[in-house]
Amino acid sequence: MSDSIDHTLRGSWTQSGAGSARLSAHAVRWLRQRTGIGAETTPAVPSSLVDVPESALPSAARADLVELLGQEHVLTEPAQRLGRAGGMSYSDLIRRRGGHDVAVPDGVAVPADPEQVQLVLELCVRHDLAVVAFGGGTSVVGGVGALRGDKVAVLVLDLARLSRLISVDPVAHVAVLQAGTRAPEAEELLAAHGFTLGHFPQSFERATIGGFAATRSAGQASSGYGRFESMVEGVRLATPAGEWRLGTAPASAAGPDLRQLAIGSEGTLGVITEVAVRVRPVPVETRYEAVVLDGWQAGAEAVRALAQSRALADVTRLSDEDESEVQFELSGAAKSRALRTLLRTRRIAEPCLLVLGWHAATRQELDERRERTFRALRRFRSVGLGRRVGESWRDNRFSGPRQRDTLLDLGACVETLETATYWSGISELRSSVRAALLRNLEVDGRRPVVMCHISHAYETGASLYFTVMGLRDGQDPLGQWDRAKRAATEAIADSEHATGRGTITHHHAVGTDHRPWLREEIGGLGVEVLAAVKRTVDPTGVLNPGKLIP
Ligand SMILES: Cc1cc2nc3c(=O)[nH]c(=O)nc-3n(C[C@H](O)[C@H](O)[C@H](O)COP(=O)(O)OP(=O)(O)OC[C@H]3O[C@@H](n4cnc5c(N)ncnc54)[C@H](O)[C@@H]3O)c2cc1C
Repeated sequence: MSDSIDHTLRGSWTQSGAGSARLSAHAVRWLRQRTGIGAETTPAVPSSLVDVPESALPSAARADLVELLGQEHVLTEPAQRLGRAGGMSYSDLIRRRGGHDVAVPDGVAVPADPEQVQLVLELCVRHDLAVVAFGGGTSVVGGVGALRGDKVAVLVLDLARLSRLISVDPVAHVAVLQAGTRAPEAEELLAAHGFTLGHFPQSFERATIGGFAATRSAGQASSGYGRFESMVEGVRLATPAGEWRLGTAPASAAGPDLRQLAIGSEGTLGVITEVAVRVRPVPVETRYEAVVLDGWQAGAEAVRALAQSRALADVTRLSDEDESEVQFELSGAAKSRALRTLLRTRRIAEPCLLVLGWHAATRQELDERRERTFRALRRFRSVGLGRRVGESWRDNRFSGPRQRDTLLDLGACVETLETATYWSGISELRSSVRAALLRNLEVDGRRPVVMCHISHAYETGASLYFTVMGLRDGQDPLGQWDRAKRAATEAIADSEHATGRGTITHHHAVGTDHRPWLREEIGGLGVEVLAAVKRTVDPTGVLNPGKLIP
């Protein structure tokens, strides 16, 4: 049995901190000067000091689970339960690092296949257990919090053993993967057949196929490969009311597309056991480069021009002035005399880094697409930094979570949030969210760095992804972030402009954290429709209580 997600998930992304990203002495000095981070270290308390309550799993339920799955696939030890106690948001990590207020599940069931998943759900209904579907546990919105609701106990249903490639159709370019397959394994399994999914979120190393579908995930190459929901051809879903299979053809006019009820349902309408995905041939040629533009406004205009003239690279990622500054400082590039001279002579006062990456089947296709991108950029006075910067971004693109562990040890408040809106309102929305974060995160007169980037661009608009890095309020770390997040989310919800407004989430999903704002986004009728579907597939409400549906 795969038990790779154990207590090591408790306070960090990395296993016991091993392999955490080291920051250079220059980076630590710069951060300390800019934000005050690093004056003292704040290590996590040892697991032995974390308060893990006794399991409330009724003995009859445990006996039935053991009979169904076998003793070794029903986990009730404190360390095993603690290993599935919540996701990877800053608040989750702070609670687990501090060892208090951690919602620990009463047990963990690890079924082997879709049939066993179905039987576990039926067992949960019989014993009145809440059940939380758990993929990689990388939710950053409270999606896997072990909430009991009005049930007698809460069981985590860990999908780690559903990790097989079921089939590949090399003609249609469709593969069926089990839901618990982690992204790196999925890529490896598909590569053996010459295919890739092309889904590379920053949580790639841990997140699963079912988790991607359940949260409408978007990867770093979404401009080329599309968001995860655009890759989903079909879904197999276990529900308390029976199994549901959705998706039979590449397109259909047979009423509303019910696959969309499973996609983004965050474990509240069923447990996804298999996903049929569109795959593409592994690219033969790839190329990454970087350019800088002068200021956010010019950068955003340039990305809009790329999107609206269909000249986006597969990876198109624009950092604002603050994020570019942090990237240059933490990578050491800021010390480069050549870079400083280049920016000065080309009169770039406020460098904004734009990373571009193309994946193609042939050299000719890559050259043509690259040429198209640069033709569209011509009128924006972009300055090329070459391949080294672009390829270094690609090589380090999954290091963010490890760097976060190091920053947490250094006493930082470090977290992200995201939204999306139409181009007509994008800069205003960025300004209002930035202002809300800056206003609410200041500690002892020290302001945080608030960074923003666009990494998912559409013809009509784009996502905005914010990262904050500042001094943690040692007295009230959870309250500090809670106030800032609330103010930022209010700014998003209030951001009405001529065409629309910001969404409470572009790809992190709703979970517990965005739930209070869902009604405002989809309307009271929208909430009623979701609740009615839930009553049909989950009449007693065992599936992931307290998440998504207000
Ligand atoms: C450092 C970091 C970087 C991230 N970067 C990105 C990013 O670039 N893009 C992005 O989109 N997201 C990102 N995320 C968020 C997160 O990785 C995604 O939400 C991801 O899609 C969740 O996958 P998972 O397997 O970890 O799901 P989990 O965290 O285990 O679960 C997430 C939600 O889905 C439900 N769920 C999980 N599996 C199933 C299933 N089989 N059936 C039904 N429901 C299920 C859970 O109950 C929960 O509500 C990031 C998170 C972290 C910590």
